[in-house]
Amino acid sequence: MKQENQNRVQDSQNGNTESGAQKAFRRTAKRQTGAARTSAAKNTTEGGTAQRRTARSGGRTAKKAGGSGTSMNASYLPVYDNAKRSPKTLKNAPKAEESALNNVVANAAPVQSKTGKTFIADARYVREKANERAMERAYEKMYGAQGEAVAEKTSRGGRNKKPVKIIFLGGVGEIGKNMTAIEYGNDIIVVDAGLTFPNNEDMPGIDLVVPDITYLVQHKDKVRAVFLTHGHEDHIGGVPYLMKELNPGTPIYGTKLTLMLTDNKLQENRIQNVPERVVEPGDVVKMGSFAVEIVNVNHSISGAVALAIRTPYGLIYHSGDFKIDLTPVSGKPIDLDRIAALGREGVLLYLGESTNIERMGYTMSETVVGTTLDHLFAENRDRRLIVATFASNVHRLQQIIDRAVQYGRKVALSGRSMLKVVDAAVKIGELKIPEGILVDLAKNKNLFDREIVILSTGSQGEPMSALTRMASGDSDKVTIGDNDTVIISASPIPGNEKMIYRVINNLYRLGANVVYESLEKIHVSGHACQEEHKILHQLLSPKFFIPIHGEYRHLKKHALLAQEMGMPAKNICIADIGNCFELTDRSLVQGENVTAGTRLIDGEGFEDYGTSEVMKDRLKFAAEGVFFVSLAVTGNYVVGEPVIDSHGFMFGEQMDMAEAYDVVKKAADAYDYENGTKEELSVAVRKALKNYVFKKTKQSPFIVVSVVEV
Ligand SMILES: [Zn+2]
Ligand SMILES: [Zn+2]
Repeated sequence: MKQENQNRVQDSQNGNTESGAQKAFRRTAKRQTGAARTSAAKNTTEGGTAQRRTARSGGRTAKKAGGSGTSMNASYLPVYDNAKRSPKTLKNAPKAEESALNNVVANAAPVQSKTGKTFIADARYVREKANERAMERAYEKMYGAQGEAVAEKTSRGGRNKKPVKIIFLGGVGEIGKNMTAIEYGNDIIVVDAGLTFPNNEDMPGIDLVVPDITYLVQHKDKVRAVFLTHGHEDHIGGVPYLMKELNPGTPIYGTKLTLMLTDNKLQENRIQNVPERVVEPGDVVKMGSFAVEIVNVNHSISGAVALAIRTPYGLIYHSGDFKIDLTPVSGKPIDLDRIAALGREGVLLYLGESTNIERMGYTMSETVVGTTLDHLFAENRDRRLIVATFASNVHRLQQIIDRAVQYGRKVALSGRSMLKVVDAAVKIGELKIPEGILVDLAKNKNLFDREIVILSTGSQGEPMSALTRMASGDSDKVTIGDNDTVIISASPIPGNEKMIYRVINNLYRLGANVVYESLEKIHVSGHACQEEHKILHQLLSPKFFIPIHGEYRHLKKHALLAQEMGMPAKNICIADIGNCFELTDRSLVQGENVTAGTRLIDGEGFEDYGTSEVMKDRLKFAAEGVFFVSLAVTGNYVVGEPVIDSHGFMFGEQMDMAEAYDVVKKAADAYDYENGTKEELSVAVRKALKNYVFKKTKQSPFIVVSVVEV
């Protein structure tokens, strides 16, 4: 008995004991008969990871018990032991919980999670724990036993009608930097925080592009949590830039792999003490006015999920990125059963991704790639194999590694992100590599070509990637020759075509054989095609719909697909960055825009694109070159000769530097030193030189004048 109590305390520290919300459910369940309200309240945990799908069977038991009026005190819901993840039933749970709660409050010490990662029990977390009962009461009021949500009451009365706001900060009208905020009263939850890679033509020198988060910073006291749907850069790449500016202690929720990849980024940016909470499909996280249920989907990365977000007015279903893969390589197929159940419960608003909406039919299953790999491994028995793919596509890596084992080859990893992701994925059990298969290329030079597969980054032809270096002969580890077969197991992201074809051309030049998507079925997309979208719309049958994750043409096409399936056009909105939509149980209307846009990151610096003087300057330098003029002045005359220096400028025959000096000197001499300022002097000199250069060369270089008083 004593032992059991200790376990319970431990569980609670992990946020995993039966929470107040679950107790609320038990209480609610006793009174409830309506299925819809039950599903809103059941299986809900506060600030934690806790329960999984089997809790639903608990839900059913509870419902049945409630329906027949049986007392519930004999059987508590099964909860999961954090370490073992095996169901166990708590007896005397309320008492155990109370002491656990006290324990958490008293010792705001680091808490060990099931991933072996340390979560800091920060002040906010402790406060939340302490406020659990208050929140639970509010929650019950909102989704309460009689099914009368507070919001619905006000809506019927027609007064104080406070809508749920859906605010798009990125990912609409573009593919990349996804970020959506959902707000009700004093609560905001953020879904995803992605990045885009810069377009070098109009953003020279920029490292990354992330959403402008001014709105969230202005309302940071309301931001309760950030939910990440999966670990792709366009969903997590902006997390460090967001967390830097939110209140310390704001938690991030995501599945294991998602958080592992996110954590790497936080570490690289030296951001500490962000509570990272691991969730799994079936978990429900209660956050202020929202309860967020995690739903399993398929995608080109493990641990991808959709979110079913319960709000005071009804359910918002956020698709994340998804496809329907009924024969996934590992993990489960998308939870169509649960999605259908959510549809029956009633979906108020569907936010659906649109990436592949232009493609007819269905996206092929990941297993198709396995079949292609089989014949490529068989055909290239005596050759060295180099396979380039996205490191984050763990299922793809698994398929390649499985073939390597089958064909008696060792696997070497090449590229920083490949090493990082494989390490992370092995640690959390997403990727299974038999012992002795992984080898270090440098230490195994004596392996025959037929004994090795090199798994490499660079499937997009990225300039600094491992494959690009191999193709240009710059790799110190791999020298490409005519016994190499290079398999590029990815498709070019729009915009990357030129880079990847350059790499393919170079590989051919070095004698290698190259296999890529247009030649073989060596890649499948991670995104749903039209018929899969129809299935989702059919199952969810939402009242309102906003397409997301697409350029305008994708969003438009997705809207048309929904209309084709019978949705009234007036119930569909197409969003742009900065738009705020106001949702109630009976309406979806566009509200006032919020500050939003594009933030450019260069090293430690950042600027907002719309107002960036730096970008204007850089583009001007790049396009026209630059002139530097230095003048030394004392009293009211110029000392010595002015210095003129130019870079990136094309001189013509008409331009004479001696004349340019004269122009500068004349402008300086003519200046009224008694009444003017240094700034006015430099403006006058710049104007004179600019006119002269334009007259002689028809060019307008950037001119910088510095005046030094000596
Ligand atoms: Zn994705
Ligand atoms: Zn995406």
